[in-house]
Amino acid sequence: MQNRTVLISGASIAGPALAYWLDRYGFDVTVVERAPQLRPGGQAVDFKGSVQRTVLERMGIYDEIRRHSTGATDTVFVDADGRERARMSGDFTGGEVEILRGDLAAILYGRTAEHCRYVFGDSINALRETESGVEVEFEHGPARRFDLVFGADGIHSRVRRLVFGPEADFVEHRGYYYAIAGDAPGSGDGPRRRVAHAHSAPGLLAVRGGPKAQQMYMFAAGQLEFADEAAQRRVLTERFAGMGWQVPEMLAELPDHPDFYLDAIARVRMPSYVSGRVALVGDSAYGNTLGGFGTGSAVVGAYVLAGELAVAAGGYGTAFARYEKIMRGYVKIGGNSNAGRFLAPKTGYGLRARNWFLGSRLFDLMDKYAADATDDIDLADYPALETR
Ligand SMILES: Cc1cc2nc3c(=O)[nH]c(=O)nc-3n(C[C@H](O)[C@H](O)[C@H](O)COP(=O)(O)OP(=O)(O)OC[C@H]3O[C@@H](n4cnc5c(N)ncnc54)[C@H](O)[C@@H]3O)c2cc1C
Repeated sequence: MQNRTVLISGASIAGPALAYWLDRYGFDVTVVERAPQLRPGGQAVDFKGSVQRTVLERMGIYDEIRRHSTGATDTVFVDADGRERARMSGDFTGGEVEILRGDLAAILYGRTAEHCRYVFGDSINALRETESGVEVEFEHGPARRFDLVFGADGIHSRVRRLVFGPEADFVEHRGYYYAIAGDAPGSGDGPRRRVAHAHSAPGLLAVRGGPKAQQMYMFAAGQLEFADEAAQRRVLTERFAGMGWQVPEMLAELPDHPDFYLDAIARVRMPSYVSGRVALVGDSAYGNTLGGFGTGSAVVGAYVLAGELAVAAGGYGTAFARYEKIMRGYVKIGGNSNAGRFLAPKTGYGLRARNWFLGSRLFDLMDKYAADATDDIDLADYPALETR
């Protein structure tokens, strides 16, 4: 393959995973990340099924992920008096191995930093494709030409916006917001079984506990505009004001949690993941907030994209088309799932139905279907092509 100089936007999961493989196949890799450094902490993410495990094993990071895993967190849904009404197993939410997103990013960065160039605190400003490559302008650094550019910059991807069009064309708001609030960012404190407690009212869910004693909230709402993080915290507090159980205490503790994140529950729907010399990977291409498959899809997607580029005799166009076809089939695992509607239904009847469902055989079947679906891909053995 002739195209050797590549730029990846985003250094969370999809970006460094792609960097890992492209570097091994002999590409010259630069990763640009908007944040001033690797972002630590964050939510717990998980891997499910033998395909995802195989990719992690081929990367040689499965055991390291296990060592840093958080363990499983069972969620107990309680009424205002703290009495258990339903329970969701941590094996469903945490898959086979669960780890804090920041810990996973650090592992991937650790495996790539020596050979790939990481530029923190910068971002792509403009992209212009020519016959021989892509001219890239940055917010801070000097302009450069690359053979290929990859958007691994999440649900609100800038590469997607610059190349494919406005976010509103591709990102569907699912009628809910979520927020997480935690301790100062740091690493997970080891695998163990935990219990988180959740309390709901129609269209509202407050969860306390779990890895790093995080708080999690979900609330039903149409599109909202926030001036800044203070406005987000204020809206959250207003929405949950008057709710019973331990919610007043949680809200009172909110200012003590510096690791705060609020966003819409959203799903990315792209007619194509590729355009010319640019390809999207991970959440930027097929994200579905809290759908439960984002991290696994990002890592599998990076593996397939890099592998197809390594084998493609017909150049990047052939490789991109193969990647698109393979991943479009795989990301169906997320289906039409809407975590907000599932966990924070908008009516009292919906809440009772949720509690019933969680204790039923149907839930076990859904859990099994989800686990089986993550293996629904024919994984090629690309690593045989490694040049290093
Ligand atoms: C609360 C929550 C819970 C979740 N739980 C799970 C779970 O249980 N299981 C699971 O599999 N997944 C879960 N996910 C999803 C998972 O975090 C993502 O699917 C996964 O991180 C995808 O990685 P990514 O690298 O594609 O995108 P992201 O992790 O979103 O990373 C994008 C990166 O790009 C950077 N960036 C953004 N804009 C720019 C720019 N303009 N220039 C340069 N860099 C930029 C960002 O700073 C970030 O580092 C959860 C997500 C959230 C928010």
